[in-house]
This record gives sequence, structure tokens and C-alpha cells, in this order.
Amino acid sequence: MSEEYDYDLVVVGGGPAGSSAAFAAAKKGVKVALLEKENSIAETVRTSGVTWIQNIKEFGIPDDCFNPIKKFSFCSPNNEVTISDTVSRAAVLDVRKTYRWLANEAEQLGVDVFVKTNIKNVIKNESDDIVGVTGIGPNGEVIFHSKVVIDATGFPSTICKAMGFVSQWERFGAGAEYEMKAEHVDSDTWWLMVGQQYSPAGYAWIFPLGGNIVRIGVGVGKPESNVDPTQRLKEIIEKKLGPIKKLGELKEVEFHYGLIPNDGLSRKTVFNNLILVGDSAGQANPLVLEGIRYAIKFGRVAGKVAAEAIKSGNTDEESLFSYEENWRKEIESKINSAGKVQDRWIGLTDEEWDKELDIIKELKPEEFIDFIKADFGLSNMIKLATHHPKLAVRQLFNLVKGKK
Ligand SMILES: Cc1cc2nc3c(=O)[nH]c(=O)nc-3n(C[C@H](O)[C@H](O)[C@H](O)COP(=O)(O)OP(=O)(O)OC[C@H]3O[C@@H](n4cnc5c(N)ncnc54)[C@H](O)[C@@H]3O)c2cc1C
Repeated sequence: MSEEYDYDLVVVGGGPAGSSAAFAAAKKGVKVALLEKENSIAETVRTSGVTWIQNIKEFGIPDDCFNPIKKFSFCSPNNEVTISDTVSRAAVLDVRKTYRWLANEAEQLGVDVFVKTNIKNVIKNESDDIVGVTGIGPNGEVIFHSKVVIDATGFPSTICKAMGFVSQWERFGAGAEYEMKAEHVDSDTWWLMVGQQYSPAGYAWIFPLGGNIVRIGVGVGKPESNVDPTQRLKEIIEKKLGPIKKLGELKEVEFHYGLIPNDGLSRKTVFNNLILVGDSAGQANPLVLEGIRYAIKFGRVAGKVAAEAIKSGNTDEESLFSYEENWRKEIESKINSAGKVQDRWIGLTDEEWDKELDIIKELKPEEFIDFIKADFGLSNMIKLATHHPKLAVRQLFNLVKGKK
């Protein structure tokens, strides 16, 4: 016997995008179901969890969910730079705690959270528009009817694929990471490690979580490189390459693996009765492949727009379009600029990376953060591209503006 439910809004995927969408929609007073295939929210961690304290505050995420970062260290085969800020602007999230907090915020507003609910297909009406989803729940088949569906399934994009609107991402990042207990940790310093020995198309990282815990990982761009990030991670830890050596003795706590889209903002994200958000919409900063703050921010926009459309009685593409307008206005040009820097970085040889670090050395902490966040405000970039004392820095920022 199948279980059948009726909701105004069904959100598929209990990651940061889905929980945030469910929260915002419930706040507007519609009846929401949040569906997650795993046994609990954030059972599997697929991310390193670096984000920005300004965004954490804006979202209301509690202080015990993150470790603040003040120093940004980079190393290439023969160069090293540390940019030290006076205040902490970056953070490494306790991912499980944060994602559970987001889902709990939604539940507090009356969202029904269904875990162990793996959605596999869509229900369509006579016009071929989505009007619900089906899958397997803890007791067998489940059927959810709804006026709007939000696809927040992340990389797999299960719902929009089942609708036939998209196919698999072609360009993406694959990342492997060990959460480890380390002997010596500088808990307010992150490390990004670049060059062939770390990753031929990407980078490796050390992100401290507070206490003696660090996340050490390797990210590899696909299809640019066929290196297996898990294999490479094991190798760099075994060889104790670069700053890994300074960590002393290491003991594994947990292994993480994930994929993140890197196809730019190529997808249309609203259809009749359907919104895509977070990784399923490709909303990620390609420079360092970070998407959590976009997932939360645009998740909330998606939930609000969906709820308003439901209340108005019209949930067609046009009624949902303000969601797409909102996020494109906010990030499209920044993501395009970040894509240009990423293309430059992916092509660098070890010697060129050594020189690139000399350019990064010239940046003030706030310039560096704007850059790595892909927060390319045009006036800032013009200022840097015209007035920075170093020619190499001016060239880098001219690239962001689209000039050679
Ligand atoms: C290795 C790696 C490191 C990263 N590091 C960072 C970082 O440091 N900072 C940062 O900001 N971003 C980082 N990212 C990106 C970030 O993790 C994503 O952008 C973010 O998680 C997107 O959130 P989401 O909610 O869209 O998707 P997800 O977090 O992937 O959540 C999707 C949820 O949907 C569930 N789901 C999937 N399919 C179904 C289904 N059929 N039925 C029911 N439930 C389903 C999944 O179980 C999951 O809980 C990293 C990504 C990778 C791969």
C-alpha cells in the first residue's frame, strides 16, 4: 500500500537549499513537505563548509556552528603567502550542526520533514507540468501531490532530470576530504595548496574546525583532469606534502566525498510549478567551488516566491520568474568574472603558480576576500585595475572586467 500526501509545496532535498526554501515558504503560511532520502538531515557530509561570517550573521546561524578564520595561507611548489586580517571574516562550518539547524528552523515553522524518503519520479498533469513526486519512503511507495515542487536535490538534480529539462552536468569538481585529528593546529588559518603535486586542475586544502580537528582535502576539475581526488588525497597525506607536515601526527575521524557543478549559470531555473535551487541550479562560485551561502540565500528567495505564487493561485513559470530574476541580478556577472579567473588558474604551470602567489601577496585582506568570494563589485575592480601600484595586480583585475 502506498502512502499519499497533499501539500502546497514539496521541497525535494534536505540540504542547505532545501531547508532554507522550506523555511521561507512556511514563514509565508503555506503547507510544506521537505523530503530527504538519507536517514537524517546531513547524515552524509559532502562539503568542506567554508563560508563567510557576514553571511552567517545575515542567516542567523548560531555562533557554535562555525570556527572563525583570520589568516589565509597559500602555497605553491616554491612559494608561500599568508594574508592576515585583523578580524575574522571567513569561517569553517560544523556542516552537520549547521544543516540540522537550518532544517530545524523550518520544522519549527510547521514544515513536515520526511527522512528516508528517496524521490525517484515526477507526477505530471495533462499539460506535462509537474504536480507532484513519487518515491520510496520507510514503509514503501510514497506519493506527494503539490502545487509547486522545488528541486533542491543538489548535484544529481533528480527532479528536473525526471522532467526531461536537463541532463548530467558536463563540467564539475570532484572533491575528497578527510576530517582528521591533528597534533598541531593553527585554528584560525586556512591553507590552499596549488600546483601539479596537489591537483592538476584544482587545489588542495586544510581547513581547521576548531580544537584539534582539520579537514584536509583535494579538489579536481572534470573533465580537465582524470586524477582521482581520493587517491591523490591519500598520497599527499602519506607524503606529508607542504603544510600537511606541520600538522604532526594525524588520525582519521571521517571521510567526505562530493561533486559540485561547474558549468556556469547555464540552467533555466523556473518552469511551470517548478523551481531549481542550489547545486541543482548550478549556483556555485567556480573560483573555489563554494555554494553554501548561495544555497541558503536563494533557497529562501525560492521558498518565498513559491509561497506567494501558491497564495495567488497561479504557479506558472511567469509567476515564479521573479526568483530567477533575483538570483541572476545578484550573482550572474560575478560568477562570469570568477569563471574567467578560474580558466586562468586551471591553465597555470607550477612556475606560473609561484608567480601568481607573488600577485596574491600584494592584495590587502579585504581585496583578497572580495576576490576569492567572487565579490567583484565593478567600482572596486575598476579602482584596483587602474590604481593598484603593481602592474601584475592590475592585469589580474582587468581580466575580471573582461579586458585582456
Ligand atoms: C568536495 C566539496 C567541497 C565543497 N566545499 C565547499 C565549501 O567549502 N564552501 C561552500 O560554500 N561550498 C562548498 N561546496 C559546495 C556546497 O557543498 C554546495 O554548493 C551546497 O551543498 C549546495 O547545497 P544544496 O542544498 O543545493 O545541495 P546538497 O548540499 O547536495 O543537498 C542536497 C540534498 O538532497 C538530498 N537528495 C538528493 N537526491 C534526493 C532524492 N532523490 N530524494 C530525496 N533527497 C535527495 C541529498 O541527500 C542532500 O541532503 C563543496 C562541494 C564539494 C563537492
